[in-house]
Amino acid sequence: KIIAASMAFLMAGSLVSCGKDKSTDEANEKKTIGIAMPAKELDRWNSDGEFLKKQFEDAGYNVNLKFSQNDSTRQNNDILAMLSDGVDLLLVAAVDGSTMSKPLAEAKSKNIPVVAYDRLIMNTDAVTYYISFDNYTVGKLQGEFVRDELGLNNNDGPFNIEFVAGDSGDNNARYFFNGAYDTLASYIDAGKLVIPSGKTSFERVATSGWTSDNAAKNMKTTLAGYYKDKELDVVLCSNDSTALGVTRCLADNYVGRRQPIITGQDGDIENLKNIVDGKQSMTVYKNVNDEAKVTYEVCKKLLDGEIPAAQLANELTIDCVFDSESYNNGVKYVASYLLVPNVITKDNLQVLVNTGLYQWDSANKYL
Ligand code: BGC
Repeated sequence: KIIAASMAFLMAGSLVSCGKDKSTDEANEKKTIGIAMPAKELDRWNSDGEFLKKQFEDAGYNVNLKFSQNDSTRQNNDILAMLSDGVDLLLVAAVDGSTMSKPLAEAKSKNIPVVAYDRLIMNTDAVTYYISFDNYTVGKLQGEFVRDELGLNNNDGPFNIEFVAGDSGDNNARYFFNGAYDTLASYIDAGKLVIPSGKTSFERVATSGWTSDNAAKNMKTTLAGYYKDKELDVVLCSNDSTALGVTRCLADNYVGRRQPIITGQDGDIENLKNIVDGKQSMTVYKNVNDEAKVTYEVCKKLLDGEIPAAQLANELTIDCVFDSESYNNGVKYVASYLLVPNVITKDNLQVLVNTGLYQWDSANKYL
């Protein structure tokens, strides 16, 4: 269970040197932060929304938080509405990072700073900063997990693997896929890993909307086409919602066969249960409470008329690096603060409990 956000903040509040100065609360009171999140359907965006809201409200800001049901047109309209209601800063986790030029041009014309949250916003010079996890490393950790589980350095296999990636409108999705694929490429080239479906490119394995239903549908087609008489050893899923779809699909269409290795990302509750039950092998955990704290620090500087710079990353006790050379949005390199992701398996679930954001159930079995 995820404990109420307020609880989590009490417990994790000392992790960052935020220095929330009560005397600034009054000045902040008149300022409003517009926060646009993609959808309520996924655990993580609810947590992000809640954590961010709490950070800013505790410091005396007003918050206008909107979720847009994974609909990019709706999100653009939500942002335009926020701009007309009046906001001092926009924080956006884009549904589709490539189709936001209209609301962002409007923000720019009003001199409202725009910060990209978790997902980079593409093809615009209106975005000022980007706060996320190291997305390539997320995929790399998944690839390394598969390499080590199969013992690919000492075992020729061959093993059968399929990739399940994210939504093509989400700039992160390619980073996750590339991180994983690049890590496994030499084993694929050597024939130790085989992709029976031949789906080797991001475009061919992307999952529209990142939904479990679409992941399940695609997996069903792959199973029917290529696995009637073959063993499926690995499904490298980019995140937990796609892993969930794959797991459900296997339960219906791959009955009585050996459980493949399945990767994920986020630490969603249903997936953690599947990890305990052996239906998913790992997840890459990104502490979104920490992501919200770093975001708060960057936004606060911007709102105070200062320029957040490399130094800020060193001032935080949260593991995070400043990077101004990796994320090009098609128009410019966007200065980025990137946090560090971690691998979670059945054996180290306690790490999540230690964050203060999860707790064991009464039988100490599930989180
Ligand atoms: C996020 C992931 C999330 C995915 C689907 C990505 O942009 O970084 O944490 O699982 O979107 O919502």
